[in-house]
Order: sequence, then C-alpha cells, then structure tokens
Amino acid sequence: MGDVVTKSPRVGIGHDTHRLEPGGPLRLGGVDIDHDRHLVGHSDADVLLHAVTDALLGAAALDDIGAMFPDTDAANANRDSADMLHRAWRRVAAAGYQIENLDCVVLAQRPKLASHRQRIATRIAEILDIAADRVGLKAKTGEGVGPIGREEAITAQCVALVTQVSRR
Ligand code: MG
Repeated sequence: MGDVVTKSPRVGIGHDTHRLEPGGPLRLGGVDIDHDRHLVGHSDADVLLHAVTDALLGAAALDDIGAMFPDTDAANANRDSADMLHRAWRRVAAAGYQIENLDCVVLAQRPKLASHRQRIATRIAEILDIAADRVGLKAKTGEGVGPIGREEAITAQCVALVTQVSRR
C-alpha cells in the first residue's frame, strides 16, 4: 500500500500601497523600470513584491509582512523586497505548502507596464523558484482620478493559491 497523498488548497490575498516621489528608476516586481518617479517606504518600497509576500503568508495564516519585517527594525531599512519575499516563502514552504499560482494586479497611472510584464513575472517566479507561467500579472490605470490617477501612489494586489501536501 502506498502513501495516501492529500492536497489541501488554500488561498491568500495581499494588498499594498506606496507613495510616489520624483526621480527614477521605479523598482516594481523586483526589477528596475526606467521612469521619472519612484516608490518610497522603509524598505525598497516594492509594492508588488509586498503584496505577493502577504498573499503567500496569508495563505498559510502566518504573520503578515509587517510583523515579519517590522519598520521599527533598522535592519529592514532600504531592504531588498526580493530578499523579504524569498524569506517569507521559505517559511511558508517549510510549513508544507507548494505554490499553484499567483495572480497580481498593479494599479498605476504610469508607466505603461505591458512591455515590462514578462520581465516582472519572470523575476517573481525566479525569487519563488517556480515556473513563470504560474505568475499572472495585469496592470490598470487610475483613470486619471484619485491618488493612483494623480500619480501620488501605486497599489498592488495579489491572490495566491497554494496546496498543503500531506502523506500518510
Ligand atoms: Mg509595503
């Protein structure tokens, strides 16, 4: 008799916003994009990687990114969010989870992200050691209104489907 393998699906959601200030480049999704504004925050302010991080931690019902990497800790100042995502994912993976897929939305008035979409998805997949076709990425503008539309901020959202694999 072989092991009985049970795969339990779990979903997580992540959401984040960071302010924009003049001067590029724009760090988004682990890549640097040529742009005239950049995101500001305690870490490198990569709003998309922060949303992905919280989606994965949330799927496992673990602490969120703010608890794992508090902004009161000087070690997190200007921290590379790719490193934060990698560490968070190692924690989720250690609890027995595998990533099925991620789907992300970036809300930014500018720049147009279509030409950067594949590079960003590939980078996120690389950080998580998964195939790039498991990372969905869409971009929306703010239709010229509100803080997104006025280019005061960029928001990112992510849902993650993971499965917990158990054998008995
Ligand atoms: Mg953040």
